[in-house]
Amino acid sequence: MNTDKNILQDSHGRDHAYLRISLIERCNLRCTYCMPENGVKLSPKSHLMTYEEIYEIAKTFVDHGVTKIRLTGGEPLIRKDIPVILEKLATLPVELSITSNAVIIDRFIDILKTNGVNKINVSLDSLDKEKFKHITRRNEFQKVYNNILLLVKEGFKVKVNVVLMKDFNEDEIIDFIHFTKDLPIVVRFIEFMPFDGNKWNISKMVSYAEVMQFVNTSFSETQIERLQDAPNDTSKNYKIKDYKGSFAIISSVTNPFCDSCNRLRLTANGQLKNCLFSATESDLLTTLREGKSIEPIIQKAVQAKLKIRGGMNTIEKLQEPKLHSKNRSMITIGG
Ligand code: SAM
Ligand code: SF4
Repeated sequence: MNTDKNILQDSHGRDHAYLRISLIERCNLRCTYCMPENGVKLSPKSHLMTYEEIYEIAKTFVDHGVTKIRLTGGEPLIRKDIPVILEKLATLPVELSITSNAVIIDRFIDILKTNGVNKINVSLDSLDKEKFKHITRRNEFQKVYNNILLLVKEGFKVKVNVVLMKDFNEDEIIDFIHFTKDLPIVVRFIEFMPFDGNKWNISKMVSYAEVMQFVNTSFSETQIERLQDAPNDTSKNYKIKDYKGSFAIISSVTNPFCDSCNRLRLTANGQLKNCLFSATESDLLTTLREGKSIEPIIQKAVQAKLKIRGGMNTIEKLQEPKLHSKNRSMITIGG
C-alpha cells in the first residue's frame, strides 16, 4: 500500500489529528455503565504495550499529523509507569491531556505540570456521596470532589464528565450547572451509550433535548447563553450568564457528531480502533513487535472508518445488542 499520502485521512475526507491512548484495562472504580458486573477478561501483561511501545506508536501518529494525545484507561493514573509515559510523550510536539476519575490525582499534580498536561477531564456522576457510591461501587466521593477543587486551584483546565441516567442523576442536572457558578469548569453531560456488558437500554438514557428541557425550566431565556463550539468539538456548549464556568452536552446517541470526527483510539493492548463504536480493530502491537512498519495498517484502518458510529447509523441499530456487543466494554476503550 502506498503510504506517501496523508495516511490519517479517511475515505470521507476526515483528517485525524487526535489520538486517544488507553494505558490500562484496570480501574480503581467500577462504574456500572462502564465496567460489566463480572469485570472484563484482562489481557495478559505481555500483551500490553510497554511505555517504549506506546511512545513508538504515538510518534508514528505524530509524524503523520496527530497534534493532540489524550491518555485514558481504565484509570490511567493507576499504571505504575505513568510518570515515565508522561515524560516520554511530553517530548513529542503534541498537546498532551488526560481523562481520570481523579481518585488519586492529588499525588500527580507536579508530574502533570512538569510534563505540560494542562487539560484534565474528570468523571463525576453525582454530587451526592451515596449515589456516587452506588454508581461507582466504591466510596471515594470526597476524594474526587476535593481533587476537582484542587485541580482548579492549581490552575488546570478541568472538564467534569457526567453520564446521565434516567431515575438516577437526571434530578442533579441543575445542581451540576450551579456547580459552575463559582468554579471555572465545564460540566459535560454525556448521553449514556451502549457498550458490551453495560445493560444499555434507550429508556435509561437522558437525551440532549431532555437536558435542555430541565435547563429551560430552571433558567430564563436571557440567562442561557449558547457558546461557540470549538472545531471538532463533540459537545454543544452553553453557559449561564455571570457563572464562571459553563456546561455542555455530548449527544453521541441522539445527535452524533461523526461528520467532524478527528479521533482515533489505541487500546492498552495495542489495537487501533477507528471509531468508538467500531467492532473491528487493527493490531499495531504485533506488527511493531515483528519489527515491521505499522503505517500500512494504520492507513488501512483509517480508510475503513465508517461514516457514522461504526455503522450503527440509526438509533434502531444502536438498540440491537448483537451489534454493540461485538464492540469492547468501555473500560477497555477509555471513552
Ligand atoms: N477512568 C477514567 C474516567 O473515568 O474518567 C477514564 C476512562 S473512562 C472509560 C472515560 C469516560 O468514559 C468517562 O468520562 C466515563 O464517564 C465515560 N463513559 C464510560 N462508559 C460510558 C457509557 N456507557 N456512556 C457514556 N460515557 C461513558
Ligand atoms: Fe473506571 Fe472511568 Fe470506567 Fe468509571 S468510567 S469504571 S472510573 S474507567
